[in-house]
Parts: sequence; C-alpha cells; structure tokens
Amino acid sequence: MKTAIAIHGGAGTITRSALSPEKEQQYRQALQEIITAGQDILTAGGSATDAVTEAVRLLEECPLFNAGKGSVFTHQGTHELDACLMDGRTRQAGAVAAVSRVRNPVLAAKAVLEHSPHVLLAGPGADDFAAAQGLEMVSKDFYSTAERFAQLQQALQSDGILLDHDAAALQGGDPIDPKSKFGTVGAVALDAAGNLASATSTGGLTNKRAGRIGDTPLPGAGCYADQQVAVSCTGTGEVFILAQAGYDISAQIRYAGRSLDSACEHLMRTIGQLDGEGGLIAVDASGHIALPFNSEGMYRASAQGENPPQVAIYRQLSDI
Ligand code: ASP
Repeated sequence: MKTAIAIHGGAGTITRSALSPEKEQQYRQALQEIITAGQDILTAGGSATDAVTEAVRLLEECPLFNAGKGSVFTHQGTHELDACLMDGRTRQAGAVAAVSRVRNPVLAAKAVLEHSPHVLLAGPGADDFAAAQGLEMVSKDFYSTAERFAQLQQALQSDGILLDHDAAALQGGDPIDPKSKFGTVGAVALDAAGNLASATSTGGLTNKRAGRIGDTPLPGAGCYADQQVAVSCTGTGEVFILAQAGYDISAQIRYAGRSLDSACEHLMRTIGQLDGEGGLIAVDASGHIALPFNSEGMYRASAQGENPPQVAIYRQLSDI
C-alpha cells in the first residue's frame, strides 16, 4: 500500500504581493520540514496516527502557525487551545478544548484517546488530565508572541473577532487579506497498513470570547477519520460545525458513491452557502489527496509514497 500524507497551516486570502519573500520562505521551509517528518514516519512503516500526531506537534511548536506556541489571544488576553486526534482504523477519537497549560494540545488529545473512556475533555479538567498523563505543562505566557499580542490590540480597537491571519494582516506585513484569514493546523495520513488518521489543532480566533469552542476539537466537524477517509479543516469554525464538514465528506463517499474530489467540492459549496470560508485537507483509502479551499490560498503540503513533497501557499496552479 502506498502511503500518503497532507498537512495544512491555515487558509485565507493569501496573495503574493502581501507576503515578503523572507516570510514566504519561512512558511515554505516549515511546511517542507514538517511534511518530510511525517512522510518519514510513514515510509518507515509507522502508523497514520503517529504520523499525524507528530506533524501536528511540530506545527504547534512553530510560532508561525496559530496552534500551540504562537496561538492567538482571547478577548481577556488569555489563550484557550483546541485539538483533536481521530484514528480511522478504530474510529476512536480524543480531543481537548479550551486548554491553557499543556504545551502540546495534540498530545493531550492523543492521551484522551488512548487513556480515557471519554472523547472530549475541556478547560482545567483537560489540563489536569494531561498533567496526570505526564505531559509537559507550561506557564500561561508560553504560547504568546509579540505578534499575537499586537493582533489582540488591533482587534480590541476594532471591536472585532478575528481569524488569525486576518489579525496579522491588519498589522501589515502578513500574507493574508484582512477580510478572510484563518489559522489552524492539521494533518491527514494513510499508512502502509491501509489505515487513516487525522489531527487538527488551533488557538482559535483572536479576541474570541473566553469559552468559545470552534470546529477543531469536534470529531465529525473540523477533524474526522474512518476507514475510507481522513479530513482536517480550517476556516470559520462555526460554519464547519454546522456543515459537519469532516463527516459530510465521508457520508457523501459512503452513501452517494462520490469520489473524494467530488465530495470535497460539494462540501465546499455548502460552506460557501453558509457564508463560511476556509478549506480542508483529505486523504482517502486509496491514497488520493484533496486540498480544497474557497479562499485565495492555504498553507499546505502533501506527499505520496516516497515521492518528493509538494508545498504550496497560493491558489495558482503554478504554485504547486
Ligand atoms: N477553525 C478554527 C476555529 O474556528 C479557526 C481557523 O481555522 O482559523 O477555531
């Protein structure tokens, strides 16, 4: 069985003119390194679950992306992080929402999957569980960066709730248009044994109300995997919840006999009809990869088997 993996670092109106060559290079290099790390796990015979967990952990560690270190601020100037891991082989999921002390929310999600009878833990109880599992805990300012703090000040001035890359664009110097920017990270993979898995992690929205939870930690919405498809989403979380984005793609394949591409196309149409914006990455049981989005661009990378990974940011085909 040929392996396959895809990762994303958020979608939005990413334009070449708004992205400095240095910043673009930083994003490309991070995506290249992280997709390669995931691909190496799969080609060495590792599981899809391990590959997506490690890819998302690395994305969380990279401050360029809105997950783990580099997460955005809530209205109250705090951080509340969400993450989910779903194993398509067993159709089991683990997730955490609104955590603020565990260093890597995706590892907390994995611990919920593997060491609890629950699917989703939230708030201080989720952090306490992660600590009891021996995961690394950090101080509250660990996730902060000067850039994210400036984004919050912008959002407070405009009294708006901002998707990550919108907020960055308001400061100038970030690649994505102010109107539609999204920041979340995710990975989907098919391993050599034919199993699928998905992981998604986010800091959510700049200036969001404390307690707000998006699609990211919800199996079936921003993260989903079964034996036929694995999906990880980014975008306007409320709409991806209402569309049941991840599960909808699986249901279309199962019940309507659609191809992965066709199912993704229909789902993105639904997202648009609900005034949502963003994108997703998906891989099916035959290793076919889809990376659809209805915004200008999406930070993304993919690799099949041992082929060289492909990294892309913009919509233009020449970019891929
Ligand atoms: N979907 C994420 C959320 O709503 C945000 C994002 O992807 O930028 O929390």
